[in-house]
Amino acid sequence: MKDARDHDLGMDRQITRRDFLNGVAVSLGGLAASTYLTGCVRHGVPGSVAASNDPPAVSGMRGDAAGSFEPAHELRDGTFWQHAGSATSTDDTYDLIVVGAGISGLAAAHFFRKQAGPGARILILDNHDDFGGHAQRKEFRVGKRMLLSYGAQSIESPSLFSPESKGLLADLGIDVQKFYRYYDQKLYPSMKLGSGMFFDRETFGEDRLVAGFGAIPHHEFFAKAPLSEKARRDIVRLYTEKVDYLPGLTREHKQAVLEKTSYADFLTKIAKCSPEVVPVFQTRSHDLFGVGIDAVSAAGLYEEGDDYGYGYPGLDMMLGGSGSRGAHKPDPYIFHFPDGNASVARLLVRSFIPDAIPGRTMEDVVTAQADYTRLDRPESTVRIRLNSTVVGVHHDGDPASAREVEVFYTRERRVFRVRGRLCVLACYNSMVPYLCPELPTKQKEALAYGVRAPLIYSHVAIRNWTAFHKLGVFQIAAPGSYHVYAAIDFPVSMGDYQCPSRPEEPMVVFMVRTPCQPGLSQREQHRIGHVELYDVTFETLERNIRDQLARMLGPGGFDPAQDIEGITIGRWAHGYAYSPNPLFDPDFAENELPNVVGRKPFGHIAIANSDAGAIAYMDTAINEAYRAVTELSHYRDS
Ligand SMILES: Cc1cc2nc3c(=O)[nH]c(=O)nc-3n(C[C@H](O)[C@H](O)[C@H](O)COP(=O)(O)OP(=O)(O)OC[C@H]3O[C@@H](n4cnc5c(N)ncnc54)[C@H](O)[C@@H]3O)c2cc1C
Repeated sequence: MKDARDHDLGMDRQITRRDFLNGVAVSLGGLAASTYLTGCVRHGVPGSVAASNDPPAVSGMRGDAAGSFEPAHELRDGTFWQHAGSATSTDDTYDLIVVGAGISGLAAAHFFRKQAGPGARILILDNHDDFGGHAQRKEFRVGKRMLLSYGAQSIESPSLFSPESKGLLADLGIDVQKFYRYYDQKLYPSMKLGSGMFFDRETFGEDRLVAGFGAIPHHEFFAKAPLSEKARRDIVRLYTEKVDYLPGLTREHKQAVLEKTSYADFLTKIAKCSPEVVPVFQTRSHDLFGVGIDAVSAAGLYEEGDDYGYGYPGLDMMLGGSGSRGAHKPDPYIFHFPDGNASVARLLVRSFIPDAIPGRTMEDVVTAQADYTRLDRPESTVRIRLNSTVVGVHHDGDPASAREVEVFYTRERRVFRVRGRLCVLACYNSMVPYLCPELPTKQKEALAYGVRAPLIYSHVAIRNWTAFHKLGVFQIAAPGSYHVYAAIDFPVSMGDYQCPSRPEEPMVVFMVRTPCQPGLSQREQHRIGHVELYDVTFETLERNIRDQLARMLGPGGFDPAQDIEGITIGRWAHGYAYSPNPLFDPDFAENELPNVVGRKPFGHIAIANSDAGAIAYMDTAINEAYRAVTELSHYRDS
């Protein structure tokens, strides 16, 4: 659907994404188009990945891009095996087969090698054309400059990591203390760039960017916002007054009340704010929870906190002093590689296959060029096979007495069978019942319980960031807009990578959207969001990005037709792992939690992934990998 303003927005301009049709490449300057249409060049041998593959450099629709999810959906719908040919057996037998090359799957291989020795033969299968799962690297080229961006953003609160997660980082040579030097915490403040809020005309009656959140007094900030006097007064009151809105209750009782109260209800019913206040905060929780404040408990928001510093006012006097992860985070939010947690994934891959990602340090991995042709070679003890969706995992007989596991995967519409002594399923846990139909019914139901949050991480390469500079913002919360948050990149320089530090330089803007439908339970909202994500076209996303950036930054001179150099969309239909929500889910006993019931080992098969810990953080993915590998040690040693 063309829009009358398309020309002004620059929809007809040549940028890197121009070669994509709803996420599928039709021409890729320098790369063979057929490589990406099929996922890899056809060598007729499973595992030989195309010579010129450089997935991080591909722009357009990434993440759950076309080609990565169709076999899994056919398996879910019961149609896959109807038209699948018979499986071709490979000759290989592995000590361990890992399903999923996200952080959890790679960590499982790491722990297995530590326990079984570096000679252990491991095959890691993943449906995407890149490894890392959510921790996917993205590269832009603007002129001569390479700019990096990310999927999973940062190492969050590393001082709270378990010994196993800390140990894995140490094994990879990651010293988180170095980020205090690499992350220039003074750069944006020294340029007087702070936090802004964009009020859009559809929600608030007019388009207006207000800069200075947190830097100027709240009453001055909100006086500039297109809100009624009553709404302004209420918001300022929330941020400034020190009131216990639940007087007379013990702290435990307040916690219990606020666990069962959404933050939206807290605002209007407990803090007695006008309903006009709600839209200002409605989407603030999107980036961490995948739903708005109608579906997140007030206590949960306080505990998880807000990485971007806008906060959830009003809760301190009731929940303060809990020492929980969010409101009292022990670490600043600075543990960020320029490609996010993709560097952790790349360091893991380097430790398995050193010549695939040359170098030795956490610094040089940032700019190291990965050679994807080396990921899956017969001479390696660890092989990573991409573009390969696992469609079945079975014991060769009764799980109690079986010797091996057979793993079926599909690639280029062919089915292959590979054998392993052990298997770790580090994929989405809700996929496991389709892979292992012989699991006990109760376990399958538990695995299917969690619904991952859908998310879109859009990254936009721009020619310069003078508009941000003129407007005095490095980040913008946009509560009513298509993308609810936008920011220029984290100022991190390490190794040979220098972050842009002058407004005249090219920059990457990060924008986040979480499709959901307020008023429903969290799981229902996520399901509706999945449908939107798979339906949305690249064109729709691009038009919204251009329109929103023009409206937010136009007063600073931003011209979307001139200033946008490239767009990459991280579409994650199955994003954050699901944590039970006290507003909607039963109060499960610890041993009845769906993730606990679901992750039980089954013969030679163990279950990892952040889903198994029901928490969407990297350390959970690592911890669950460690548990899964440890659960299999009995079989490994027998
Ligand atoms: C957009 C986004 C941003 C995030 N930011 C952060 C952050 O800043 N910090 C943080 O700590 N966490 C972040 N997370 C959470 C992130 O999920 C975890 O940190 C961690 O990366 C999860 O790793 P995982 O291996 O458990 O899962 P995943 O990353 O989902 O990896 C699982 C892999 O298995 C593959 N797979 C699934 N089914 C199959 C199959 N049948 N066959 C083959 N392969 C299959 C998947 O496609 C995927 O590649 C973010 C998540 C998202 C979506």
